[in-house]
Amino acid sequence: MKKLENPIYVTQPSLPELEEFIPYLQQIWDNKILTNNGPFHQQLEKELANFLGVPYISLFANGTLALVTALQVLRITGEVITTPYSFVATTHSLWWNNIKPVFVDIEPEFGNINPEKIEAAITPKTTAILPVHVYGNPCNVERIQEIADIYGLKVIYDAAHCFGVNYKGKGICNFGDLSILSFHATKVFNTMEGGAIICHDKATKKRIDYLKNFGFAGETTIMAPGINSKMNEMQAALGLVQLKHYQENIAKRKAIVDIYRKELTTINGITILPIPENTDLNHAYFPIFVDEKNYGITRDQLYERLKQNNIFGRRYFYPLISEFPMYKGLDSAVPSNLKTAKQLAERVICLPIYPDLDIELAKYICKNIKN
Ligand SMILES: *Cc1c(COP(=O)(O)O)cnc(C)c1O
Repeated sequence: MKKLENPIYVTQPSLPELEEFIPYLQQIWDNKILTNNGPFHQQLEKELANFLGVPYISLFANGTLALVTALQVLRITGEVITTPYSFVATTHSLWWNNIKPVFVDIEPEFGNINPEKIEAAITPKTTAILPVHVYGNPCNVERIQEIADIYGLKVIYDAAHCFGVNYKGKGICNFGDLSILSFHATKVFNTMEGGAIICHDKATKKRIDYLKNFGFAGETTIMAPGINSKMNEMQAALGLVQLKHYQENIAKRKAIVDIYRKELTTINGITILPIPENTDLNHAYFPIFVDEKNYGITRDQLYERLKQNNIFGRRYFYPLISEFPMYKGLDSAVPSNLKTAKQLAERVICLPIYPDLDIELAKYICKNIKN
């Protein structure tokens, strides 16, 4: 296969035309409000709540601080059940709260936490479940809630991959006690860096907003050792412009997914994820899984071969979080406990996908995999 002239990366951030953003910058320069719940921040919260179909949203400087703060909001302590098949920030947020992560294996269909393995991991110290909607495919939210209700646990969803996803006609962030989003440059909706917590009631929203602003609950009242994780006006302004282009960007992503699905389903030794039921997807990622026996070469060999032709996929998620030095000593991190996660981590490559990826390039990527 001929090597591409320019490298293609797993993603490329979407940005509006600069001219579209300039009037917003002008307004910031004119009114000199740069942060602290400014007009763009308030407007973006309103527009996002409406767009995502959720009652309350609080904006954050990034998704990781949203996760760290979410655990404080609900006063989560002790042990939390989570998945090793995610981006490290999911588990790091527990560590920053002095909470012990307890890893549970994933289900093989979508790579989300396996609800049937949760109960066995519950101890008297367990206070919450922290699942991830991996690749934007919803977890089994009904079953997870059922278990949480029986054992009196809170559920916080890491919905960083899930912006704009609907499940059974409802915004996915309506499930669980809290959901967190990321608006990082690599996500389907970006504010360069950014994030959010979604909650269901006004009192919780108030508590979130205090905690993200040092714990200020009034001019002289500090309600808790809060943090500074506020989104600034530049980020919020960019969010307002980005939101206008969201639907067209998702449609472009869908066109790439259609090519990948059509071209890759028939390759021996390559599997792709099924399409989940009752779900409006955001097409954030396109993972493929390489079965060495049937495909002929290993995942890493394919990964390197693609790189040589200037196609840079990413092995999301490899290694597993449970294999990093700070977590591998945990009882729940033993490989025999996480067999399915291990298998997916060893087989996965996420292919390039972003709105401006040329359809012909997507076809070229498929040819490289067929070859
Ligand atoms: C991106 C991501 C985060 C972190 O979000 P940031 O905004 O980059 O801090 C957390 N969890 C998952 C699953 C992510 O993909």
